[in-house]
Amino acid sequence: MIDNNLEKTLSEETKPLNFIQQIITEDLENGVCDHIQTRFPPEPNGYLHIGHAKAICLNFGLAKQFNGKCNLRLDDTNPSREDVEYVDSIKEDIQWLGFQWEGEPKYASDYFDQIYAWTIQLIKSGKAYVDDQPAEVISEQRGVPTRPGTESPYRNRSVEENLDLFARMTNGEFEEGEKVLRAKIDMASPNMHMRDPIMYRILKTPHHRTGNKWVVYPMYDWAHGESDYIEGVTHSICTLEFEVHRPLYEWFVDQIRTSDYKPKQREFARLNISYTIMSKRKLLELVKDHYVNGWDDPRMPTICGYRRRGYTPASIRNFCERIGVAKRDNVIDVGLLEYSIREDLNKIAPRVFAVLNPLKVVITNYPEGEYELVETENNPEDESMGTRHVSFGREIYIEQDDFMQNPPKGYFRMTPGKEVRLKGAYIVRCDDCVCDADGHVTEAHCTYFPETRSGMPDANRKVKGTLHWVACHDAIDIEVRLYDRLFSDEDPAGHKDVDYKTFLNPDSLHVLQNCKAESSLSVAKAGDHFQFQRIGYFCVDPDSTDNHKVFNRTVSLKDLWTKKKE
Ligand code: ATP
Ligand code: MG
Repeated sequence: MIDNNLEKTLSEETKPLNFIQQIITEDLENGVCDHIQTRFPPEPNGYLHIGHAKAICLNFGLAKQFNGKCNLRLDDTNPSREDVEYVDSIKEDIQWLGFQWEGEPKYASDYFDQIYAWTIQLIKSGKAYVDDQPAEVISEQRGVPTRPGTESPYRNRSVEENLDLFARMTNGEFEEGEKVLRAKIDMASPNMHMRDPIMYRILKTPHHRTGNKWVVYPMYDWAHGESDYIEGVTHSICTLEFEVHRPLYEWFVDQIRTSDYKPKQREFARLNISYTIMSKRKLLELVKDHYVNGWDDPRMPTICGYRRRGYTPASIRNFCERIGVAKRDNVIDVGLLEYSIREDLNKIAPRVFAVLNPLKVVITNYPEGEYELVETENNPEDESMGTRHVSFGREIYIEQDDFMQNPPKGYFRMTPGKEVRLKGAYIVRCDDCVCDADGHVTEAHCTYFPETRSGMPDANRKVKGTLHWVACHDAIDIEVRLYDRLFSDEDPAGHKDVDYKTFLNPDSLHVLQNCKAESSLSVAKAGDHFQFQRIGYFCVDPDSTDNHKVFNRTVSLKDLWTKKKE
């Protein structure tokens, strides 16, 4: 649930240590280790999402806090799903978030030779065997936790036979699925992962780094701890689903280690956010089947999607800091993420005028063909951002929503007979409007009061409504993409027997083509952030060209100027 006292969130100095920071502090105090080495280990089989951002902030953050180091390790043990495109995007996203890994990026595939050598060692000591049974039979024989499983008929093959068969597996003599290498641990263990887990399988897909060198690949469990060990990782932080793998992680490391050093695996709760999904497989499906426009579609919970949408690295880091590190799975309200974005953009985004659904207003007593510059602040939150001049003239645009011919009581925007302030310029009184044959208002007519301009005697005259506007002669046409939640259900993947795609929000994207903006935006560059006053925060999309600017709505804004009072 959303914390209503976010402003009061404890600062970093006074915040109590989370349980992982406590473990590390104790390990350093007790001499379990004398330095800290962490790693962030994504599998390059998709783009990173906001859940990964949490793991990134945690691992890189711990290294920073304890003066240690954090590696980037691509966990590339399954060539059939992996690609360099993903590796490149992962690097870009981590750096964009503001973190830098130690040295060169590392790859589990760098360690294939070493892991292979350890495998031979295990076979020789009778702790691994080749199984000829198909995967389904193996999994069937594992049984259930409450009863011992069934031992494979191949479990007691001789060391020689195992060495020979594994060599032939490695040489490509067998097809995928024909044979696997298993650890010989305990088929009666209450922990299913200890029931002779598979160590190697045959995969005849070229690997994005090792090419055709290998046709056998180590499984995650027989690669991850070993990679940690090779890299001298002191604390191997992963998500809760790996807690049950921990005994196996330790068993494997115990087979290979030659000193007291042993990486310590600890688990934290995955990040889940309401109204979205976090599974890479499902996100890939949305991309492949064109439910969204690519991994960086601004509706995606991916880091590149958020970047394109206009989220800032600081806001994502602050969000991760705020949600903390827990031992229990939970769902974070998407509103908390949006809060963090608004908080950051409020500080850094220049204010500009843009009108999304324009209605022309003619100021009938303003001289034709004349215009003037009015001065307005770039950010009331930050005076150092200065002011700018905006052109004002006889014809301006306001939002269609900001005009009503027959308003209900308490409507303080533009309506015949009432006065409103045009932000930064003048107070005007609406006199009349023009309608088309269907009765839709096409134009409003107003009278302005010259002495209400800033610095003039009547500048502080009280009126209840203040509107943003864009002068017609100065306006540029812009395209605006309004995003809403990608799913209309709080937990789209959480329904038994109902596909998560059922809950895709059909209104998650609205494109407005004929919006008007002040001319200063004609030089805006992709990635620039703005607050369209009274509307929300927007970011320039990379689809923009010199003549056609496209803006993504990052997050809406609470209208503090008039709506509150209405
Ligand atoms: P896969 O389903 O492909 O295994 P994954 O989400 O586990 O996907 P990885 O690339 O293996 O993705 O994840 C890299 C690291 O990020 C892991 O340490 C993992 O625990 C962490 N991570 C992944 N998803 C989340 C999440 N939602 N919240 C926090 N950490 C996460
Ligand atoms: Mg994983």
